Amino acid sequence: MKIIDLTERSDEPTRDLLRPVALAIKNGDLAILPTMTYYGLCADALNPDAVGRVFKAKGRDPSKPLIVLVDSFEMLKPLVEGVPPIARELEWRLGAKGLTYVLKASRRLPSELTAGGDTVAVRLERNEVVQEILALVGQPLTAPSANREGEEPPRNVDEAIRQLRDWIEIAVRWYSSSATAPTTLVDLTCEVPTVLREGTVAAADIAKVVDAA
Ligand code: AMP
Ligand code: MG
Repeated sequence: MKIIDLTERSDEPTRDLLRPVALAIKNGDLAILPTMTYYGLCADALNPDAVGRVFKAKGRDPSKPLIVLVDSFEMLKPLVEGVPPIARELEWRLGAKGLTYVLKASRRLPSELTAGGDTVAVRLERNEVVQEILALVGQPLTAPSANREGEEPPRNVDEAIRQLRDWIEIAVRWYSSSATAPTTLVDLTCEVPTVLREGTVAAADIAKVVDAA
């Protein structure tokens, strides 16, 4: 297992330091990466074998679908049946604080990822390390929190490695996260957007954007 330490001074551009991570992910391996909330257990979201190992590593029930991270609406488009205008509005107003959307899944998504359901949870991820890796890989990543089921989501890389070292190929050491909540999960598959889990964004702030739209 390899650790890429981005907290150390280096003259190399971050993108070059992260190339081995992109390579591991393209190869179907698992990686621990910082996200805008907690550290995530990441893999190529479109590789069913890699997604299967994410479930095993976490000890996660295969009936619980995983989240998908993208860097743009462009990367999102082929993953879903359509992007409702309210998604762009919410992203523009509140995305930087942390919003995850439930949308109708494209039938091309691995059923492992969606747990056989017809929806998918997606986030336009704002963490700069993940953004670099998404640009290098050119594919969406799955990224549930990097903990075994039932444990606390990790705010630093060591805590994540402690739980998952046997499963991962590579990890990125970034600063400790100050997150106290996960992102807010909004279901956009119904007529009226519905908050499924209130996290970093208040449900009232979502209601304001929805009412004004
Ligand atoms: P997190 O990875 O903690 O930021 O949050 C993602 C959350 O979305 C988890 O609680 C998942 O169980 C949940 N989730 C993933 N896929 C779906 C889906 N298709 N519908 C509803 N919730 C989902
Ligand atoms: Mg979790």
